[in-house]
Amino acid sequence: MANKCPNCNFKITSRNQLCDDYRDPNKAYGCPGCGTFYILPKNQPKPWYYWVLVLGNALMIGVIWNIVQVKGATVWLFWGYMTALALVLLVKKLLATKKELQDSGYRSAAAND
Ligand SMILES: [Zn+2]
Repeated sequence: MANKCPNCNFKITSRNQLCDDYRDPNKAYGCPGCGTFYILPKNQPKPWYYWVLVLGNALMIGVIWNIVQVKGATVWLFWGYMTALALVLLVKKLLATKKELQDSGYRSAAAND
C-alpha cells in the first residue's frame, strides 16, 4: 500500500517505509524522506449502522421505483434520489481519504543519510 507523506510528499511504499518496531503501531510505519512516523488507518469491520444505511437505502430505492412504476410519478424522482445518494457517498469518501495518515508523534533519527 503506497501512501504520500503529508509532511514532505514522499511516496511511501512497502519497500521503502521505515519500521523501527513492528510491535509498536507508533513506530511501525515511517516516511524515509523525513523520518516522520504515522499511524496507519485500520481495516475495521463496517459498523452496524453502515448496514442499516445500506438496507435503508435499498428499501428506499425499491419504494421510490415502485411509486414511479405503479403511481406513474415522474422517473426523475428516482434519478434525483440516486444522484443525491451518489453525491453523499462521494463527499463521504472525500472526507474519509483526507484523514488517512495520522502523525504518531514518533521521529526516527535514521532519516538523515
Ligand atoms: Zn515525509
